[in-house]
Amino acid sequence: MNLINNAFEIALDPSGITGMTEAEAARLLREEGFNELPSAKGGGILRIFLGMMRDPIFLLLAVSGLLYFVLGEAQEAWMLTGFVLFIMGITFYQEHKTERAVGALRDMTSPRALVIRGREQKRIPGREVARGDVIVLSEGDRVPADAALLWSTHLETDESLLTGESVSVRKSIWDGAQALVQPGGDNLPFIFSGTLVVQGKGVARVLSTGAKTQIGIIGQALESVAPEETPLQREMRGLVKVLAAIGLTLCAMVVVAYGLTRGDWLHGFLAGITLAMAILPNEFPVVLSIFLALGAWRISRKGVLTRRVPAVETLGSATVLCVDKTGTLTQNRMTVKKLFVGGDFFNLDDPTPGGLPEKFHPLVEYGILASQPEPFDPMEKALKLVGEKLLAHTEHLHNDWRLVREYPLTRQLLALSHVWQASDGHNWLIGAKGAPEAIADLCHFDAERAQVLLESVKRLAAEGLRVIAVAQSRFTEPELPSIQHDFTFEFLGLVGFADPVRPGVSQSITDCYSAGMRVIMITGDYPETARAIAREIGLSPSQECLTGQDLEMMNDAELERRIRSVNIFARVVPEQKLRLVNALKANGEVVAMTGDGVNDAPALKAAHIGIAMGERGTDVAREAAALVLTNDDFSSIVESVRLGRRIFDNLKKAIAYLLAIHIPIAGISLIPVLLKWPLVLLPVHIAFLHLIIDPACSVVFEAEPEENGIMKRPPRDGSKPLFDKKMLLWSSLQGLGILFVLLAIFGVALYRGQGEDDARALTFTTLVIANLLLILTNHSWEDTIFKTWKSGNPALWWVLAGGLAFLGLVLFSPTLRNLFHFSKLHPIDLALCLGAGVLSVMWFEILKAVQSSRVPLVDSKDPYEL
Ligand code: ADP
Ligand code: MG
Repeated sequence: MNLINNAFEIALDPSGITGMTEAEAARLLREEGFNELPSAKGGGILRIFLGMMRDPIFLLLAVSGLLYFVLGEAQEAWMLTGFVLFIMGITFYQEHKTERAVGALRDMTSPRALVIRGREQKRIPGREVARGDVIVLSEGDRVPADAALLWSTHLETDESLLTGESVSVRKSIWDGAQALVQPGGDNLPFIFSGTLVVQGKGVARVLSTGAKTQIGIIGQALESVAPEETPLQREMRGLVKVLAAIGLTLCAMVVVAYGLTRGDWLHGFLAGITLAMAILPNEFPVVLSIFLALGAWRISRKGVLTRRVPAVETLGSATVLCVDKTGTLTQNRMTVKKLFVGGDFFNLDDPTPGGLPEKFHPLVEYGILASQPEPFDPMEKALKLVGEKLLAHTEHLHNDWRLVREYPLTRQLLALSHVWQASDGHNWLIGAKGAPEAIADLCHFDAERAQVLLESVKRLAAEGLRVIAVAQSRFTEPELPSIQHDFTFEFLGLVGFADPVRPGVSQSITDCYSAGMRVIMITGDYPETARAIAREIGLSPSQECLTGQDLEMMNDAELERRIRSVNIFARVVPEQKLRLVNALKANGEVVAMTGDGVNDAPALKAAHIGIAMGERGTDVAREAAALVLTNDDFSSIVESVRLGRRIFDNLKKAIAYLLAIHIPIAGISLIPVLLKWPLVLLPVHIAFLHLIIDPACSVVFEAEPEENGIMKRPPRDGSKPLFDKKMLLWSSLQGLGILFVLLAIFGVALYRGQGEDDARALTFTTLVIANLLLILTNHSWEDTIFKTWKSGNPALWWVLAGGLAFLGLVLFSPTLRNLFHFSKLHPIDLALCLGAGVLSVMWFEILKAVQSSRVPLVDSKDPYEL
């Protein structure tokens, strides 16, 4: 261990520490495996199978298959077995796809680690950390593996996960020899996988990974994607219970009625089972969970990872997006634009023959001294760059000085100081930089000077520049003071940084406004800068602005009133975001809030949709959030709202379709029993229908593209149930329409003495056609079939074509015809079925067309509102 020769020397500069090479890391990962715990669940495929066995439809099919064997009707039995296998195949495919989507998400949302590979700092997935890697940790990070500290500034971790003790423990630096000891106790040099850095920074070398870590030995896994029941799932469970109860009662009645009236209990059972298969609402919860899981997957492709599934539902009903300015609306890529010293401005964009005038040199010099030697902060990077460009070969760059102490930025004082030891002298030289007010305070400006300074600050800020002030000091006494105020600072000047707005933000904000969403900008920056950026991106109103100080003076009621119209919050500290969230919630808004730091966590938790920044965000923020933004881009949030709306629309369509199609199936199974007609549907027919219905609702509707005006209507009212009265009414009408036509056909055919098999063939064919049309009509509630005809959802055409092909097979193959108890249909019969099928659904299409030419059936507010 030659990196740290003397553990007791406080090195403030970790830049000398180099890590492994990529090749070495790759080799170790290959040999020792990834840094992950063996998944507790495992056996994915087996689990899917077991899950399928529990599916009621599957069980009912199996039971009816058995009954057929008992009845000695082996052909029927085999055919049902075939269907069972087929349906199992589809289910398996769908479940596997869902499982994979969820698994991929789990990997992506798992903590990430900052490592030094070669000399580069790199963020990598936590599972790719190898033994021997050098990791960089700061406040809010989860430690990715067990490691020994090479360097640290007051690092403290919370090891309660391992020890149960909820006090944080202080860490010391490793001497390179001490062997790993158990967690717990202060002043040990080891940090442990899964624990949380609560304070300070550190650089550490990984000693063990994966199952060999302490947490791996205990075998306790951190859950990364929390399985939570969403409000819709809760609502769904209620509905399913009711439907199932009604269904089972009806089935019992059918068995008894059939048994008593016809004296044939076995066939009575079969009829009961058929009805049960027809009406048990087993698809509803399945559809919902598929939509949510695949929805999360779709959103992930826009750069937004889902940690809490309910967020997928809530997205579409968000009414306010509260976003950080720096990094989310802007790129957080700073360049120095203007300097200000003693009344003069210097514009770095204008090329000047003489280079930077001498007057501005100390400003840049101390700006750099008030930065990290290897800066991570974009402002400090920009300053360093200016120094390298404009101060090269001057006496103003001090690469050989030693950083001895840092005074960090605090919420009370937005300024930081660095104390340096010059290579020759014994004095300490101090560079300070920070918010102009804070630096003016450190320099003990009187009111008048502060006012004059403020004028210059405003001039820079009005151009949208982020303004910081720089000051210098000298210190000769032996003991460094404990606070920055005890230095005597001399004011040097102002630096104006440009942070370009992300491309596409203006458009996204316009989209938000037309979609009925507000956008609130939150920043620690100066109000004037915030206003200028607001103007640039088209946030309105861009004049009104509240500052953190204003917030402190206000009580909650006042804030709730003001926040109705104010959309810019400047000089706000993260702790105040919680108050903003609560005020918005009190006003009945559905709030999305972004954040990245430890102090943002409470606000992220409190918001309806907490969104953590993936690039900059700490693990604490990620864990508190429902969504993680991988590219930190505001436009991605708007894209995911759009997707959230689409997912919800499609879910509604799928459910509407399911409700509608169950009505004729249930009716046509039930009514003949009661009327002592021959049965229309046997288990085999129901199984056939499931072959269309299942993929239709899970695949077709899931993949349905968004409606045209999806971002032109206000957010969905989250308090309204999914199954509102209007939707129930429309679905029931659709279903009843089909049922009526079916009964008419069956009744008339029987009445005319065409025979049972003929009547059944006619009725079933009509039902299948009506079913396919029902899929077509429900895939848009806005446009008629003719308009959506061309909409490119390949799954729709596969299901329609597949359904028709199956139907053809059953009607024209003599063997299948026999098994389905059909007689041969003539072309005229087919035409009749087609006509009847079209008739049973077309009225809704006509209504759509008529309504959209007058007041749209789907008015712009809510597509299901009349
Ligand atoms: P934002 O919310 O826009 O990211 P921050 O909370 O990060 O703003 O910063 C708030 C203010 O604190 C900045 O406007 C700046 O004046 C000061 N500040 C932040 N980081 C630094 C730094 N590294 N050096 C000096 N001043 C800083
Ligand atoms: Mg910042």
